[in-house]
Amino acid sequence: MKALVLQKRHTLAFESRRKPGPPAAGEALVKVAAVGICGSDVHYFEEGRIGDFVVRAPLILGHETSGVVEAVGDGVALSPGDRVAMEPGVPCGRCGHCRRGRYNLCPGIRFWATPPVDGSLVEYVVHPAEFCYRLPESMGFDEGALIEPLAVGVHACNRGDLRPGDVVAINGAGTIGIMALLSARAYGARVVVVADVVPERLARATALGADAVVDVRSASLAEAVAETARAGADVGIECSGSSAGADVLVRAAAPGGRIVLVGMGPQPTPLDAVAAMVKELDIRTVFRYAHAYPTAIDLVGSGLVSAKSIVTDRFKFADAIAAFEFARSPRPDTGKILIEF
Ligand SMILES: [Zn+2]
Ligand SMILES: [Zn+2]
Repeated sequence: MKALVLQKRHTLAFESRRKPGPPAAGEALVKVAAVGICGSDVHYFEEGRIGDFVVRAPLILGHETSGVVEAVGDGVALSPGDRVAMEPGVPCGRCGHCRRGRYNLCPGIRFWATPPVDGSLVEYVVHPAEFCYRLPESMGFDEGALIEPLAVGVHACNRGDLRPGDVVAINGAGTIGIMALLSARAYGARVVVVADVVPERLARATALGADAVVDVRSASLAEAVAETARAGADVGIECSGSSAGADVLVRAAAPGGRIVLVGMGPQPTPLDAVAAMVKELDIRTVFRYAHAYPTAIDLVGSGLVSAKSIVTDRFKFADAIAAFEFARSPRPDTGKILIEF
């Protein structure tokens, strides 16, 4: 079978790999149907590393995945032909974090396309069936692949304890910022204000349900929030990864508000702790997600979230190298790039 392999920094090539399987007990063999390109995939392609994760051996990229079950091992509730979204991180299931339900913190987690674990830009994968979630009839493979970034938005809302009627400020309108916007709306936010520095991204946020948008190069998020809700934001979600982002949200927050840090930038994140203290803010962080796939699938399947609207560019798997070249220097209005098999 064909696999797209990052052989080393800047070098992607198709390689022939042995088709995996047959699936063991508890596993499913899945024919991959759609994979979204994530910022992290592009970053490994361009830099060969993200922080301490370094590409030292050839690596298959891709972790936002949907597909069709082709075969299952013993004790699996899925059947051949089932369409599934696949959660890319497989934790040990036994350590304290796993047993407390925070399996995203498992030190033994194996996460697709994080060195040295291969990802899903390959024709077939074998995966634990409990991390393959059946898609409802109404959902396409493209939406199945988008469940991964949507799970981040859902987890951010969960961590922010977002409640119906809340005023929400989101800094950053890339894929994750948009997924946080869609999730916040579905969770019953009364007002959502979104900030970015790219007008095309702000236009997309408006089209997808933001009540107000702010170009933070020339205006203040705190002032824009105050125009719709004088007290400030009940929940602030940082999705830009910019080092100024956390502080922008501290200023936009209402007393007693919650701030959730999602975006990870290369720089340290300074934060005015005293400004946060006088509002008694709760500051929380997000690392990937745990048990957010079922909610994300329900939100899309029920029509509460239209995740597909973020896809702007589609490539066939055979053209996946061109897709990555495009992803390195996208248009200002580029949203999610999808690879379809
Ligand atoms: Zn991703
Ligand atoms: Zn564990």
